[in-house]
Amino acid sequence: MSCKYIFVTGGVASSLGKGILSASLGRLLASRGVRVTIQKLDPYINVDPGTMNPYEHGEVYVTQDGAETDLDLGHYERFLGIETSQNNNVTTGRIYFDVISKERQGAYLGKTVQVIPHITDEIKSHIYALGNAEDVDVVIVEVGGTVGDIESLPYIEAIRQMRYEVGRKDTCSIHLTLVPYLAAAGELKTKPTQHSVKMLSESGLWPDIIACRSEFPLDNGIKQKIAQFCNVEVQDVIASLDAETIYEVPLLMREEGLDERVIEKLDLQTQPLDLDDWKSFVKAVKEPSQDVTIALVGKYVEHHDAYKSIAEAFVHAGAKNDTNVVIKWVQSESVTASNVQELLKDCSGILVAPGFGDRGIEGKLEAVRYAREQKIPFFGICLGMQCSVVEVARNLCGWQEAHSTEFDEASDKPVIDLMAEQREIEDKGGTMRLGSYECTLSEESHAFRAYGKTDITERHRHRYEFNNEFKADLEKVGLRATGVNPSRNLVEIVEFQDHPWFVGVQFHPELKSTVSKPHPLFVDFVSASLAYSTSKEGRVDGDQKHAPTKDTSLKASISS
Ligand code: GLN
Repeated sequence: MSCKYIFVTGGVASSLGKGILSASLGRLLASRGVRVTIQKLDPYINVDPGTMNPYEHGEVYVTQDGAETDLDLGHYERFLGIETSQNNNVTTGRIYFDVISKERQGAYLGKTVQVIPHITDEIKSHIYALGNAEDVDVVIVEVGGTVGDIESLPYIEAIRQMRYEVGRKDTCSIHLTLVPYLAAAGELKTKPTQHSVKMLSESGLWPDIIACRSEFPLDNGIKQKIAQFCNVEVQDVIASLDAETIYEVPLLMREEGLDERVIEKLDLQTQPLDLDDWKSFVKAVKEPSQDVTIALVGKYVEHHDAYKSIAEAFVHAGAKNDTNVVIKWVQSESVTASNVQELLKDCSGILVAPGFGDRGIEGKLEAVRYAREQKIPFFGICLGMQCSVVEVARNLCGWQEAHSTEFDEASDKPVIDLMAEQREIEDKGGTMRLGSYECTLSEESHAFRAYGKTDITERHRHRYEFNNEFKADLEKVGLRATGVNPSRNLVEIVEFQDHPWFVGVQFHPELKSTVSKPHPLFVDFVSASLAYSTSKEGRVDGDQKHAPTKDTSLKASISS
């Protein structure tokens, strides 16, 4: 079967959840045996989001091949259990960069290079590149931004052309809009949807299916009205209601029949739907037996999207432990030696987050020290791992000057240092140690017990690295290197002995946690935190014991 394409556009407002809708549709099709991949087209001029501040963009999601991409790719991987790559994320910056590079090489000699056809051809070639892969039946293409934005126009035009090239019967266009409720009128309003579809159609693209994000169910009258004004059948108007957890969206879309509408339009050959595992997972997320509170100490905590994959990895690991992980978001800048106990005493686990730059570093070091001394399960990720090395160097080796050279170039104990190949690099974009690398675990380690094997691969995004010059001294005071990159002898995991669970990892395990494969280190960390919580109950006054509560911080409404 030749590949078929589903295009997902958004209208009326941003943040309606195109990413979750696309991932949910992908899940439903994959659960019927269809081989699906998803691509995100981003209309901004940055070549990739790697140089953007997390406040601007949220987390930068790193694929196994080392691409710095949009966080929606994380949803695609978590929902579908697939591995995405550079091809799954295209930005306007990359399209123009490639077209201009080709122009300089003489690829268009004699021609005037224009948006149509050169930019639109380049966009289409990126979409076809995914569709031409042998193992793909359907590509879902999510167009970032909102219809009507100037910068989305070349993408809409490329899709319009593709619908003719591929043929209408092998393409399907889904438009996600907002149906707001006006309290004063006591009514749901369809007019913004009508306008949005009109605007899309002015660009030559008619939606086959209209998904309507709404706080309230859409009755048949509302669906009829949207169908009539927007040229679709009433069964092609799909309600997309707010969900308690994003993982419930595939089930809601199933109830609305989104998958069946798409299968019929694209005439897809499918197997019987099997959502049993997904349903069990959603049940575990919604009805956990217990809570455990874990601190996430970081400097972007006001903006939870900056730690999207970590929060989702906790949802997966929580479900595996029949537990609701309540994240206590702790601003690292606010942590000091005098308030650390007050801030963290109600937590049964402490995660020190990844990051760049020195804001909040001293607070992170205090959090590491508190976790180490109080024997509270500790998980350091990337910068968090580097902080654990600095903390041990300062407080156990007695090297007060110890630091990462990212923050103190003149430190005489540079326990974390720039990698040799990074020293000459000046460009900021795409130049870190990025993507998947091997790591060998020592058998006497928490990491080995969690993974159950010695050879693993994990994804990286950093410039600095554990400095092997200090390894022997750090091991003497109890900080062991338990995971090492075999080809370059780089320390990828440190663990503190004489502690129930103290693990720092140079890589980003959160990027590989999916619904079907919760990450072993997160699962083990949550389990260690539960054990700590139980032992604390025994020791203190039992104030940890409480009925399961709904965690609003994790069960985000569907937004991308
Ligand atoms: N800033 C650190 C480095 O570049 C850590 C990066 C991270 O936490 N992703 O090495």
